[in-house]
Amino acid sequence: MDWNPTRARGLERLASFLPLAGRSYAEQRNHDHGPARGGRDNVSQLSPWLHAGLLGEAEVLCAVLEQHSPRAAEKFIAEVFWRIYFKGYLEQRPSIWTSYLAGRDDALAALERNAGLCTAYGEATEGRTGIEAFDVWARELVETGYLHNHARMWFASIWIFTLKLDWQLGADFFLRHLMDGDAASNTLSWRWVAGLHTKGKHYLARPDNIARFTAGRADGPLTAEGLAENAAPMTEPVEHPRRLPDLPPPVTTADLAQPFALLLHDEAAHHAPLILPARPALVIGATRPEARSPGVTGSPARAFTAGAMESGLTEAAAAFGCPSMQWRAGEPIEALLAEADVERVALPWLPAGWTRDALAPRLAELQRQGRVTTLLAPLHRATWPHAKAGFFGVAKQIDAVLGECGIGGG
Ligand SMILES: Cc1cc2nc3c(=O)[nH]c(=O)nc-3n(C[C@H](O)[C@H](O)[C@H](O)COP(=O)(O)OP(=O)(O)OC[C@H]3O[C@@H](n4cnc5c(N)ncnc54)[C@H](O)[C@@H]3O)c2cc1C
Repeated sequence: MDWNPTRARGLERLASFLPLAGRSYAEQRNHDHGPARGGRDNVSQLSPWLHAGLLGEAEVLCAVLEQHSPRAAEKFIAEVFWRIYFKGYLEQRPSIWTSYLAGRDDALAALERNAGLCTAYGEATEGRTGIEAFDVWARELVETGYLHNHARMWFASIWIFTLKLDWQLGADFFLRHLMDGDAASNTLSWRWVAGLHTKGKHYLARPDNIARFTAGRADGPLTAEGLAENAAPMTEPVEHPRRLPDLPPPVTTADLAQPFALLLHDEAAHHAPLILPARPALVIGATRPEARSPGVTGSPARAFTAGAMESGLTEAAAAFGCPSMQWRAGEPIEALLAEADVERVALPWLPAGWTRDALAPRLAELQRQGRVTTLLAPLHRATWPHAKAGFFGVAKQIDAVLGECGIGGG
């Protein structure tokens, strides 16, 4: 698989996947055929481009609905909405993210104190547990920066219930290595597997299921012996209160009448999905992969992030005929704006999680001065109010949301 972090490569991958996005996806998507060439064509593998904002969910859904009926593409559409749902859910319950950060830091400190735990953690992350399937995925994740959805579920389940390691350490391991490492999808999926998202309902990996859905791998089905198949779901003593933040209205040409800088970031690295109503006078790129974790970010994830920003900046500068620059961590952004004689910033929504943690404090003063115009995708604005509890609340609104956003003529 060619993971070139450009919008052109994302569009090319989308085009080649489109014929399979209908019933074929619904029937085949759970099979993990491994990373061998072409093996993963049953799934889109678009997540790194979607996460980086090189592609937008709306354009992916539009393209799919041009080739398939809503019925035939139902499953694929629902999966894209899972991403939007998780984003909206975390926005409304930000304490899930802060308590994850605190739990992760406690768990990392416990590794320092406990040699046995440290050994078990090393075996898990280096693929030396003796559970074949788990070890293969651990190495695949580190080497490629991608894991199939089913493998992520099995891996997280074995991590939590068989190896009995702290789920927050597992979520941190994923976040450091996945090219698509997303605070919402990752944290909430780990919680879902653990039984914390849908309270009392956890996901237990089974060897027969793993063998069945990995049978197409180049080296044959993966084995997984000794799994805890009767473990109880996890519980937590805290509730996470819900509050939908004020969502910014659609941005008009009048909002961007003054010269402004477009700020691209790790989850919005390309201007095209943003559909700006005016041309910026400057494009600024802020990439902060180190904000994912206090640990080391894996090289595929680092390379994808850096490449996405580089290509995003180059293409925005060419499209708008304006200069572009990188905003390095620690530098005051005000100086960059003053140098270019620009007052205002157009800021793609900073999603709850590591992207917001890294940038929001540095933009707070500009926000306070009223110099920031926030851009939010219409699909997110329309979906998030429904992301209050379970996915079902979003699922039953999908047709209405697609219609509201003019996607697929729906
Ligand atoms: C423990 C765990 C951790 C995960 N961590 C992440 C993460 O950090 N970043 C991330 O983008 N996804 C995460 N996922 C969700 C999912 O596994 C990936 O989005 C998917 O595997 C990406 O491959 P794909 O692009 O081929 O997906 P496809 O099956 O082709 O789906 C199309 C798109 O829909 C979205 N999507 C699909 N399944 C899900 C899902 N279950 N939840 C949310 N969005 C989904 C993705 O954006 C994906 O690109 C995680 C899942 C689990 C179980």
